[in-house]
Amino acid sequence: MTDRSRQAVLLFGAPGVGKGTQGKALGCIPGFFHFSMGDAFRSLEPDSELGQKVSSYTSRGELVPDEVTVQLWKQTLEEIEESDAYRPETDLLVLDGIPRSVRQVQLLSPHVEVLRVLHLACGDERTKEHLVERLRKRALRENRADDAKVEVIRRRFEVYRAETQPVVEEYGPGVVVDFDPLGTPAEVLQRILSVVAPIQRDLTHKAAAAT
Ligand code: AMP
Repeated sequence: MTDRSRQAVLLFGAPGVGKGTQGKALGCIPGFFHFSMGDAFRSLEPDSELGQKVSSYTSRGELVPDEVTVQLWKQTLEEIEESDAYRPETDLLVLDGIPRSVRQVQLLSPHVEVLRVLHLACGDERTKEHLVERLRKRALRENRADDAKVEVIRRRFEVYRAETQPVVEEYGPGVVVDFDPLGTPAEVLQRILSVVAPIQRDLTHKAAAAT
């Protein structure tokens, strides 16, 4: 089944840059629905076959295989749609952490139209060291096994550079918008809202005109 009626923006950037914080904040606004792939993985039953398979990758900082990831994404999203928590006609989907590889871009493309890639772009090595520290502190606070070890965090950065960064090229310059991720969460949110609020408004207007 294909369904390009789902319209989305993609929160994109290195681990720890603030995608989750911004996604949760946007998800609190009516007309936006936040979907975090990492959260979907973390909510799996740890003793289930899938839960164990997934944790064998997440615990090493590796990506879960593309087919497994996209299948879970699709199934979870369809369940959420059935529950009416997300309505594709009026809600802008905020994708957080998916797609994370070029193959995932291809697998997702029949099911969602990505209108903007919101690229939280962190530049130099100093920023990276700051992100590593941020991830370690969050791991302790949220009891996240994957980010408790510095070598796993460093692997996550390598995987980001090798497998995830090329995703930007798949969407091209008209779709990708770079944001400064530094500042308070509210300041970053303000920058992101200046781009996504008009997109969400257009979606609402289109839905109203169709009824
Ligand atoms: P996150 O909470 O987004 O940082 O994701 C935590 C971990 O879940 C990542 O380090 C990966 O192991 C896995 N993961 C999350 N999203 C994806 C994805 N789209 N593809 C493959 N693995 C993923």
